[in-house]
Amino acid sequence: MSLFQAIRGMHDILPNQIHFWQYLEDKMRHLANQYGYEEIRTPLVETTGLFKRTIGEVTDIVEKEMYTFQDRHEDRSLTLRPEGTAGCVRAVLEHSLAYNKTSKLWYMGPLFRHEKPQRGRCRQFHQFGMEAFGIPTPDIEAEMLVIIWHLWQQLGLRDKVQLELNTLGSVNARQAYREALVQYFERYRSDLDEDSLRRLALNPLRILDSKNPALQEIILNAPKIQAFLEPASEIHFAQLCEYLQHLNIPFILNPRLVRGLDYYCETIFEWTTQHLGAQSALGAGGRYDGLVELLGGQPTPAFGFALGCERIVELLKDTHESEIFPPKPHIYCISQNYACQQEMFLIAEHLRDTLPQLKILIHYGQGSASFKSQFKKADQSGAALAFILGQEEKSKGLIAIKFLRENREQQLYSKTDVTSFLRDYFSF
Ligand code: AMP
Repeated sequence: MSLFQAIRGMHDILPNQIHFWQYLEDKMRHLANQYGYEEIRTPLVETTGLFKRTIGEVTDIVEKEMYTFQDRHEDRSLTLRPEGTAGCVRAVLEHSLAYNKTSKLWYMGPLFRHEKPQRGRCRQFHQFGMEAFGIPTPDIEAEMLVIIWHLWQQLGLRDKVQLELNTLGSVNARQAYREALVQYFERYRSDLDEDSLRRLALNPLRILDSKNPALQEIILNAPKIQAFLEPASEIHFAQLCEYLQHLNIPFILNPRLVRGLDYYCETIFEWTTQHLGAQSALGAGGRYDGLVELLGGQPTPAFGFALGCERIVELLKDTHESEIFPPKPHIYCISQNYACQQEMFLIAEHLRDTLPQLKILIHYGQGSASFKSQFKKADQSGAALAFILGQEEKSKGLIAIKFLRENREQQLYSKTDVTSFLRDYFSF
């Protein structure tokens, strides 16, 4: 037992799990590239003010979940990033990435929130996200949703997910809606729980998010944003819905969807699943046209989303465990002695150069172990072939190949013929 353990809610991703992550990451990276998004990597630590300003003071994240600490060397407060958008917008502004032009970015990496650890909820978790700046129209929204839809398809998860959509309207509409909500919930003040009372004063939209069963009926009958939408917002949202229908992406309209963060307006969405228990949200996003200006930039329309990688990996494991596995080695190299081992190094180096697809392992120990024990390790490695170099083969410029996964006679090849044999054998 080690003297130290990982912090609760912050998990090691072990080698026997990493292939699920790499599988997912490869798909995400490829999709981002296909649609012309550029990767951005921002620091894990930002000044605390950035998150307070962007996420909003009256949100769970800022009120209770941020890992915030005093910089020991300078008089300032720092925070481990709890979400990706704020840092991304900060970087976009700092480097003028969206100044008088559009910019489409993606990122992937860890985030930190001090939540109660449970299944699907960690304190360090990972997100894949995209952000687009300078595009006010619903086509960019449809594009991001179709990218996610492709991801589900490529991961074999389409029948496990559901898209929920809503619009929050313009900032003005949201303000009017907010006032109507306050009036409405004031009438039920005595029924509200402590959390909702606090939200009533500060961020009444978030009462709609409440999971408290006792409040569900009151919430169900609360005014809906639809009554407050301006015509431009209605057209915008209707066009997005048309794109989705046209692209055959199923969705449901959820007028109660509000999202926890302050900065959203117009379109918002969430992908959910019924297959992960209580933590059903796989990812979410929306339009945040006011955020760039809030951080000191020119008014810039923006739209983005983030998907939670842990939950996607969990779904992948549940549904496709037997189809996704780490790539096995092609060749395991066995030698009889020190001189043979040296020669084997050269052969393996040459093969790695000429056939870079090959995964080649070497048995260490300079040939001191018996062939029998080396074969055992070769077999355990999962390799398809064992390359065997004994003194006799070495002196004749040959190499013996044993087929570890098929019932076939061991064969001798000259060093020069090995490459073409491998090309044929693995169909490279
Ligand atoms: P949010 O930034 O809160 O909208 O979260 C976007 C997605 O990130 C969620 O839908 C989850 O899939 C994932 N997520 C958020 N918080 C956590 C967490 N504490 N642990 C694991 N995944 C999370």
